[in-house]
Amino acid sequence: MKVVLATHNQGKVEELRAILAPLGLDLVGYEGPEPVEDGTSFLENAFIKARAAHKHTGLPAIADDSGIQVEILGGSPGIFTAIWSGTKDNVANRRLLLAQLKDIHEEHRAASFVCTIAFVTDSEELSFTGVWPGSVATEERGTNGHGYDPVFIPEGFDVTAAELDPEVKNALSHRSIAVSALMDYLKTTSS
Ligand code: IMP
Repeated sequence: MKVVLATHNQGKVEELRAILAPLGLDLVGYEGPEPVEDGTSFLENAFIKARAAHKHTGLPAIADDSGIQVEILGGSPGIFTAIWSGTKDNVANRRLLLAQLKDIHEEHRAASFVCTIAFVTDSEELSFTGVWPGSVATEERGTNGHGYDPVFIPEGFDVTAAELDPEVKNALSHRSIAVSALMDYLKTTSS
């Protein structure tokens, strides 16, 4: 069965394509118009993207939306994670977050990475969410990963996500939790 992933990011397509291939799913990238992501949550934005890709292609569609939620900031950056500094520059985004928390002690720096995957077909709309709890570091550390990894310390570790072996991160992350839940669902429906 062909399934479309609502992203223009070919790296994301290849990564999920390899994961879903053993289930007999042929994941393809999305070429159509990009909807305005005007939702107020990861869930709403994931559904906006998945519905647009489903409508345009007629195929079952998957979309994800993710970011970091910092408790003392009331859950922000949240859906504004990618443009927290007003630009999409990861360095500026991380720098602003660290500056905002400059005077906040370690025990009050709780944060989570969150990933919501939406799955939309002719007959159903489902979502799967993964949460990776941890805290915001006091300074950047590590060179692995991407985005906010250098400033995120996963619960149970004293290193940042950017200092973790990528295989360890991939086994624990918000995205892997959400993808596993999607796979469990697809396994039950395709068997
Ligand atoms: P997107 O949903 O993949 O576009 O990501 C939204 C924002 O969340 C971007 O700024 C990413 O850098 C950030 N983000 C999402 N997942 C991760 C992660 O696993 N590590 C670091 N940053 C992430």
